[in-house]
Amino acid sequence: MEDREIIVIGAGPAGSIASSLLKRAGHDVVVLERESFPRFSIGESLLPHCLDLVAEAGMIGAIDAAGFQLKNGAAFARGDYYADFDFGQQYSRGRATAFQVPRARFDQLLADEAERQGVEIRYRTGIAAVDFSSARPAVTTRDAAGNAATLRADFVLDASGFGRCLARQLELERPSPFPVRQALFTHLADGIPRGSFDRQKIRIVVHPRHREVWFWLIPFSGGRSSLGVVATPEFLAGFGGTPEARLRALVAEDGGLAGLLGWAVFFGDGSGDGAVPGLGSAAVALAAASLALGLVGLVSLPRLDRAGRIALAAATALVALGRIDPRVVVLDADVGNSTYSNKFEAEFPERFYQFFIAEQAMVGAAMGLAARGAIPFPSTFACFLTRASDFIRMAGISNLNVKLAQVKGKWLVADISAQ
Ligand SMILES: Cc1cc2nc3c(=O)[nH]c(=O)nc-3n(C[C@H](O)[C@H](O)[C@H](O)COP(=O)(O)OP(=O)(O)OC[C@H]3O[C@@H](n4cnc5c(N)ncnc54)[C@H](O)[C@@H]3O)c2cc1C
Repeated sequence: MEDREIIVIGAGPAGSIASSLLKRAGHDVVVLERESFPRFSIGESLLPHCLDLVAEAGMIGAIDAAGFQLKNGAAFARGDYYADFDFGQQYSRGRATAFQVPRARFDQLLADEAERQGVEIRYRTGIAAVDFSSARPAVTTRDAAGNAATLRADFVLDASGFGRCLARQLELERPSPFPVRQALFTHLADGIPRGSFDRQKIRIVVHPRHREVWFWLIPFSGGRSSLGVVATPEFLAGFGGTPEARLRALVAEDGGLAGLLGWAVFFGDGSGDGAVPGLGSAAVALAAASLALGLVGLVSLPRLDRAGRIALAAATALVALGRIDPRVVVLDADVGNSTYSNKFEAEFPERFYQFFIAEQAMVGAAMGLAARGAIPFPSTFACFLTRASDFIRMAGISNLNVKLAQVKGKWLVADISAQ
């Protein structure tokens, strides 16, 4: 049997910070963590005071350097009502900013920092049993291969968060007196045009008709966000289909949110974050914030066929080009909602020209713009572009820098029939 001074259960923020503080105070500490990291967790919009604890544990340098989205307040919206609060407008001393963090990366950084300070963390080590019957409690663990081991310690600190390890082991759990709520959530590439949204604030949106239903939108750095909705299980059951379909349907009920997320791509692969909300992982009762919440993660891909995804990718790239080169202009012949050139229009209205169904005029204007030093991207469906063939020929003969964008036939046919 292994002898330790302090056992900490869980390597979430609480476990990593507590174990570092204990180690810094000269104690022997081992952390037992059920999962391997990075792992998904919810709870991504931090409050400034949290960072005081991170700093006290000697980890603030790593967090400051991580490039997380700065947070300076919170915004609340319902229909046309909007109010926001800036943490800088405070009456007491203290930090005025925090961060909005994908927890997979944030928690991993904290745990790595704890290890760097000499804390021993054992991943994939769950707690099978605890025994407090003798003076020094005994904790029996089980690793991923099913091997059991027992450790004895002077103290056991339960930092298992949602796991509620000791409460379960010691049968201390009691039903919450608060009404049960469920949450549907995902991470997404939010596609929110620059300048139309304050990314430094978590946004809480109350459903326009149902006061007890609310959404969170937490922007991360890199154009990603966390989106979730909280409601009673009965209310959510009224929306059929996959978790993604239900979340999308709920977002569509709020004009403001639907407008903001018109270009969002929902995903659950968490690429880059190691964040993987488990598909359909259901109904975990939580005592956090005195609420009992059931969580359902989402895994989804954009509902577009291959040509649609290529068009969306091209339009996204065009927006990126527009951000780095002010000469980039986009011309559209009334199909911007299919070619996604309206993504560019949303962000750079002053560099977007609408020609409705006059393709010849569009290519002609592109030639003029190119002659004056712009880099024009006229875009429409391939077959519509044939109407401007003379103009395209003249642009070629003139050796003008006009970038023609066309969309593939298969998708074209499907889309034309929809018009
Ligand atoms: C829907 C929702 C939204 C939220 N939003 C926010 C927010 O915006 N901002 C905010 O600050 N907070 C938010 N919270 C609260 C936040 O998620 C928690 O307060 C936070 O995760 C608690 O951190 P922790 O380290 O205590 O526990 P956790 O993050 O739960 O970490 C506990 C660790 O213990 C491990 N563990 C569990 N059981 C065992 C076991 N038996 N053996 C070994 N290891 C075990 C787990 O694998 C996990 O890694 C939200 C909560 C919910 C439910």
